[in-house]
Amino acid sequence: MTLWICTACGLEHEDTPVSPSRCVICDDERQYVPISGQGWTTAERLGQAGTAATVIDVEPRLHRMRVEPSVGIGHQSLLIQTGGGNLLWEPPGYIDPDAVAQVQRLGGLAAITGSHPHLMGAMVSWSHAFDNAPVYVAEADKHWTRRPDPVIAHWSDEATPLPGIRLVQCGGHFPGSSVLHWSGDEHDRGIILTGDTIFIGPDNKSVSTMRSYPNRIPLPERAVRQILDRLEPLEYDRAYGSFGQVIDAGAKNLVKRSLERYIAWVRGDVGDY
Ligand SMILES: [Zn+2]
Ligand SMILES: [Zn+2]
Repeated sequence: MTLWICTACGLEHEDTPVSPSRCVICDDERQYVPISGQGWTTAERLGQAGTAATVIDVEPRLHRMRVEPSVGIGHQSLLIQTGGGNLLWEPPGYIDPDAVAQVQRLGGLAAITGSHPHLMGAMVSWSHAFDNAPVYVAEADKHWTRRPDPVIAHWSDEATPLPGIRLVQCGGHFPGSSVLHWSGDEHDRGIILTGDTIFIGPDNKSVSTMRSYPNRIPLPERAVRQILDRLEPLEYDRAYGSFGQVIDAGAKNLVKRSLERYIAWVRGDVGDY
């Protein structure tokens, strides 16, 4: 069995005797084929090259998984522990027995999901390693799935993969782009995991959003308003990005201010340009 991994985006593709001719994710205007050309690898080759995953604690019941050397886009996965089982958000494109053992020590996985197709990595292999834990993929983006499998559960609008965890479809970057809202225990003020749906800036105090981040294609006002509207009913104080960013307090207000600033710029309601 040969599961091909695109070296540019890190998405696992289905088993074929020879590597696919192209990666439709990278051919899309939101992503890019590197000037060196389309490349493919496998988990076996990555393992031989010394690729390894490390899980670190972030806060109680929240962990990050980093793969080094990085695979594809190089995002970091997040793992939430709940009383009803664990959820892996945006799995890496790489999996090996040591990575599985680290997650096993945290209690295994009961659900897998991510904000959108770019950051779903080797989602099906991760599911198969954990008793076929369901993989939640937004119905609106299902045609981007590179490795179809019965473990994939399609959803729209909202889903509750585990108690206290809600997926909220916001659209924008992809029609099915989502955030994950975690209400935590009763004393917690709530957390969102943002993926590429809203991108936390390097100051960890602001966010932006784009149709394409690498190609700098913006979103129209109505898409940004839709994201704001979808986030408005959620109560959250902290926000976690997919590349190590964290807004550690007052996240809801900062998200709102940032997206309203974005709308002002795309409308031209500003004087300084
Ligand atoms: Zn790709
Ligand atoms: Zn993306």
